Amino acid sequence: MSLRSLHLLGSPVLRQRSAEVGEVDDEVRRLVDDMFETMDAARGVGLAANQIGIARRVAVVDADGDRFAMIDPVILEAEGSATAEEGCLSIPETYGDVTRPERVLLEAFDRDGTRYRREATGLKARAIQHEIDHLDGILFLDHLSLMRRQMLLAKWRREHKDDTSYLREVQPAGERVE
Ligand SMILES: [Zn+2]
Repeated sequence: MSLRSLHLLGSPVLRQRSAEVGEVDDEVRRLVDDMFETMDAARGVGLAANQIGIARRVAVVDADGDRFAMIDPVILEAEGSATAEEGCLSIPETYGDVTRPERVLLEAFDRDGTRYRREATGLKARAIQHEIDHLDGILFLDHLSLMRRQMLLAKWRREHKDDTSYLREVQPAGERVE
């Protein structure tokens, strides 16, 4: 397994609709393993493949004690409405309240290529929707009011005006200095 670099806001791959995987082969399994490792090191509750520069419909989630990969995921049912603060590993130190369906029924393929369904509420439902958004080129910022979005984007541009790259290296969890 290896840690992958994160693509930050501004990287074109984050705005792309990722392509269906179809067959789950060894390459996809390696990608899933690397994504779990990278998500853990970055302390995220979810990670989509395009956040590490791979425009394929693969994401991982670790929320409410449940840890799973989603390959070619689809939301079959969504109901209710809940608002909570979200952040994103691709937009560090940026947060906003996002309203989404409260409960979802997910269908996806797992790391072995087996189709499964999973019902989720709360943080898990939110993480699933946030990651599937990524696969469609959508960021949580897009769900905010225009005013809030413009404010956060202006702050982001100020703080990142000297960046020379969209990539951010992820430090192995054990070597983190805090
Ligand atoms: Zn995100």
